Amino acid sequence: MLPPAISHHLRRPRWLLAAVVLIDLMVVGLAAVTIELDLTGRRQAAQDSARMVSGILADEIDHYLGHVSLELQTIADEAARRDAGTKASDPTTVTAFLDRHRRRVAGLSEISLIDAEGRVGPTTSGARDSPNLPVGQLAFFADLRDNSAAELVVSRPIADPTGQRRLLLIGHRIDLPEGRFGGIVMAVLPADYLAGLFAVIHPERGMHISLLNRQMEFIARYPAVAAMEGASISTAASDESRALIEAGQEAASFRAVSRLDGQPRTSFLRKVPGQPLYFNVGTADETYLKPWRAEGTRVGLVAAGFVALSLLLTWAVRRNWAEREAAIAAMEVAHAEIRSHAERLDMALRGANDGWWDWDILLDEMYVSPRWWEMLGHDPHGTCGSPDMWRSRAHPDDQPRVEDEIARVIASERTTLQIEIRLRHAGGHYLPILMRGYILRDFSGRALRMSGTSTDLTEIRRVEATLQAMFDLSPLGKCRTEPDGRILDVNAALLNTVGASRTALTGTVLPGIIPQSGDGEEGRQREQLDSEGAFGPFETTLPHADGGEVPVRLRGVWIRADGGPGSIYIIVEDITEERTVLRALEDRTRDLARSNADLEQFAYVASHDLREPLRMVSGFLGLLERRYTPNIDSEGVQFIAFAKEGAQRMDRLILDLLDFSRIGRTGTPQDSVSVTAAIGQAIRNLAVGIEESGAEIAIAPALDEARVCGDPVQLTSLFQNLIGNALKYRDPTRPPRIGVTGQIVGIHWEISVSDNGIGIEPDYFDRIFRLFQRLHTREQFDGTGIGLAVCRKIVEHHGGRIWVESIPGEGSTFIVTLPVADA
Ligand code: ADP
Repeated sequence: MLPPAISHHLRRPRWLLAAVVLIDLMVVGLAAVTIELDLTGRRQAAQDSARMVSGILADEIDHYLGHVSLELQTIADEAARRDAGTKASDPTTVTAFLDRHRRRVAGLSEISLIDAEGRVGPTTSGARDSPNLPVGQLAFFADLRDNSAAELVVSRPIADPTGQRRLLLIGHRIDLPEGRFGGIVMAVLPADYLAGLFAVIHPERGMHISLLNRQMEFIARYPAVAAMEGASISTAASDESRALIEAGQEAASFRAVSRLDGQPRTSFLRKVPGQPLYFNVGTADETYLKPWRAEGTRVGLVAAGFVALSLLLTWAVRRNWAEREAAIAAMEVAHAEIRSHAERLDMALRGANDGWWDWDILLDEMYVSPRWWEMLGHDPHGTCGSPDMWRSRAHPDDQPRVEDEIARVIASERTTLQIEIRLRHAGGHYLPILMRGYILRDFSGRALRMSGTSTDLTEIRRVEATLQAMFDLSPLGKCRTEPDGRILDVNAALLNTVGASRTALTGTVLPGIIPQSGDGEEGRQREQLDSEGAFGPFETTLPHADGGEVPVRLRGVWIRADGGPGSIYIIVEDITEERTVLRALEDRTRDLARSNADLEQFAYVASHDLREPLRMVSGFLGLLERRYTPNIDSEGVQFIAFAKEGAQRMDRLILDLLDFSRIGRTGTPQDSVSVTAAIGQAIRNLAVGIEESGAEIAIAPALDEARVCGDPVQLTSLFQNLIGNALKYRDPTRPPRIGVTGQIVGIHWEISVSDNGIGIEPDYFDRIFRLFQRLHTREQFDGTGIGLAVCRKIVEHHGGRIWVESIPGEGSTFIVTLPVADA
């Protein structure tokens, strides 16, 4: 399994792209710097090369001109000497002399002697480069003439007589002995000879070599350019060169755009020592820019290739990473699911308090869960290994049986196993364990592995033992039978009830213990057992061992836990005694009812018959009063009055008693009576008293629709008594307030009559409902003490109840319940 935070460790490196871009930028920068450095190097090399070439050429020209100067000096010296001595020499000799010297210096086409006026004198024979040159008018002649210090002066380039070549005139001053100017020795040098000299050093391709004079005129150029014939400063030399020359610079490097071909050049300007001549050696930038560009392109391509490759690789890596992340995410989801399944399984098994095990039959290796170890009192992380774990802990009596059973199941085709075994707990005692397993087989049916649970049955065994004790010790008879009624197990109480022994009863059918199908109650009980799996309570008789019968009440339930036929569990109540008591009770009730009826009859007859003599006593007392009052003294009159009053009271008592005895003589009243109608009638009967006392009576609207099951006359009498009492027992300090409310509670209307009268002490709450019980003397409140007894009788006769709640000094509430009448 993956550790939970694996994705954390495998997070895509966000910095990868940034790092690659940084490296790419560095590579590009490096390439740019390389290219730039290459350019600088190449430019420097071009400069160095121009400097070197100009140096070599300057030396060469210096050397060459030195040579020329030496020859011209010799001639000049000779001319001066000749002029001072003989004056006239043989022209042929002179010419030969000049020619001899001319040949000594390569390149010179002619040497002539020019007199002080500038006329051309003897000249070397052969070539006639300069016939008719107006030497005397040339600036270089004037330079030599006017400057006695001047030795060798090179003229500006001039065209030869054919106009095809350009010539340089090199003159040397002839100083006569007295210091006079004696003319010049002039050598003619074709300019292209110099250019030929440049070629000797094999200048690099693209290199331009120019020899310029101080006026910036081209004297010679390599390679030769026709357009430069007669070119002057304004067309060929750059302002830069001129500026440098004017600044007196003898050697300097500069860059400028050529006016000739419009190309930028790197040039080196160098003065020829001792001569107003300058070399300008230049290399067109293009010469080194081209290879530089090629090189730069190569470097650029390599860099671009690297960048492209790195970006491609990064993209590939990131893509690969994204795929890996997706795969890891999927793995994590799967992993979480597996974990939650495993946790759920573990929790489920823990909830069931079961251990589990997994046995690889082929390798004979076994894994057991921590709970398995815990169950046997070991460290939950005990080591796992072979099935010896349980073998070594099995009870010696169980082990062979269990081994056999396992071997049998493995050899069979069965896929499940269920075995009970006792395993030794770490504490030394044995635990009853239920092993249930599932067997995994290959195609050929060979058992490969077996996994399952181990359940500790200790608690179940304990409960079983408790239940057995309850079964055995119960005072109620109990038994367990096969569905056909054969007794499997029976307790002492039942054995006692039927007077049989356990051995006699076990395995036999006790007739009547299970209801049999048929008519009547027993048949119905049987149906109930078959359809609902239970019967009873059901009264029947069981045969007693002594031949008699025992009346019993049976209850039974069919226990079919494992889908088999199951067994029936029956409770047997011996009701012999109950029957006897019941019978006695019925006899007593009957007797009581009879004596009650007699009493009521007696009370009725007595009160009815008593009124007759009483009426006679009252009648004669009235006669006595009317006729003899004038003749007897006042005491006698008073006695008569007392006697009359006593007779009246007795009459009231008898009437009340008559009322009382009448109630209950009829059957239970069944009319639907409106409660408000009964109350209304009572109020009307009490109208005088209500008015006198100024009472207010409020009847709750809840009672408007209230109807109860009863006798309208008796109910009127009930409410009349209650409201009458409320008026009678009023507090003299306040007018009576009477409220009647009601609510349905269960099957009854609960109706309350409350007042604000004098109230009743709680001690008398019961007493006041008894016959003749009064709390006051006649002088305080008139009455017979029968009213509330009548009320109770009426209410109870209607199947209700009456009681009182009161706070002395504040008031009382009488509550009656009466059965709700069906609508
Ligand atoms: P009588 O009213 O004729 O005395 P009752 O049986 O009606 O007889 O009442 C019994 C006694 O209960 C009365 O004497 C009286 O003390 C008490 N009693 C009844 N109703 C009330 C009431 N509403 N408030 C206070 N006391 C009462």
